[in-house]
Amino acid sequence: MSIISDSLKRIKPSPTIAVTQKARELRAAGKDVIGLGAGEPDFDTPDNIKDAAIQAIKNGDTKYTAVDGTPALKKAIVEKFKRENKLEFTTDQITVGTGGKQVLYNAFMATLNKGDEVIIPAPFWVSYPDMVLLAGGKPKIVKCDEKDSFKLTAKKLQKAISKKTKWLILNSPSNPTGAGYTKNEIEDLAKILMKNKKVYILSDDIYEHIKYDNFNFFTIAQISKLKDRTLTMNGVSKSYAMTGWRIGYAAGPKDIIKAIGKIQSQSTSNPSSVSQAAAVEALNGSQDFIKERSDAFKRRRDFVVKSLNNIKGINCLTPNGAFYVFPNCKGLLNKKTKLKSDTDFVQKLLEKENVAVVQGSAFGLEGYFRISYATSMDNLKKAMQRIKSFCESIS
Ligand code: PLP
Repeated sequence: MSIISDSLKRIKPSPTIAVTQKARELRAAGKDVIGLGAGEPDFDTPDNIKDAAIQAIKNGDTKYTAVDGTPALKKAIVEKFKRENKLEFTTDQITVGTGGKQVLYNAFMATLNKGDEVIIPAPFWVSYPDMVLLAGGKPKIVKCDEKDSFKLTAKKLQKAISKKTKWLILNSPSNPTGAGYTKNEIEDLAKILMKNKKVYILSDDIYEHIKYDNFNFFTIAQISKLKDRTLTMNGVSKSYAMTGWRIGYAAGPKDIIKAIGKIQSQSTSNPSSVSQAAAVEALNGSQDFIKERSDAFKRRRDFVVKSLNNIKGINCLTPNGAFYVFPNCKGLLNKKTKLKSDTDFVQKLLEKENVAVVQGSAFGLEGYFRISYATSMDNLKKAMQRIKSFCESIS
């Protein structure tokens, strides 16, 4: 009999982390690999945030804190929601965890009973289905079409809801497509959700600040009739280039927030005291660099989208946000190229041209691949050239 639990057997390791690891290994073996798999900004954490952390260490903020966040950080989060999203919360409606990932994991552990369904629009962030499975729930994957910019429609949502539906996950702007839901699109989904009063909504807003072309970010808790059924997750990882600091947070119904705290109290306890102090500065300090960095990401996005659309067999939509594109490579999956799937495509691309990207099927939609353009323009130029050479060589 295996020592490994049945619940762990239900899940697989994160495919995006696996690609990043593979690229790291090839690089260590002397290969000139360009990694376009990682989901983190290549920019550094701003100095004012680093200084706040150094000061916290010097002040002796090096002990346990309240399990679900320091009063100072919770206050900064309350103010963030008021300032940026026009949402009012009290501090007992806020929880802070070790990254958005932990907050989501705790939310599922706190709420799912065996067989409860969670609607996950595909393509999705790789961790959602496995977290749901680990918590004993059932992922209900709803494939979204490229013609809808990979977004969930009201019709598809209505069809997916059953008596067992507990949560709907919304992620805007999205990993892996970069697509953002407009206010109108969210209102359309809200109409369905208002009719289905038992369904809770988990809104993953982690890419809120990385957006382009005056895209107006709107989050579903802003629809007042749904606020009591919405858990809004966000964090400092992407907006403030703080992936390594591990601070994420959520705001929502008190009973869920309390239950999340209970899990955290018996598992990890508080997130790092020093990182929490840094996150206070991130939220309260100057936000000017966010715009500068979004502009840099936009230049890269424009370059990548244009370059990909110049390659025969590839078609790439222009995303509203995040730092990913999700090109269609179905035109290259045929007898002539000898590629049967997106997995073949990414494997051969890595073997032949040393460019690491992630297959669409890892995100629940076949025939696509994900590129993270959170890397230097030099790297992107080389990578686009190599992808073009690869596609031409097989056609
Ligand atoms: N949600 C989405 C859609 C993500 O892409 C990520 C990170 O890749 C997270 C949540 C978790 O972020 P973190 O745990 O670094 O705060």
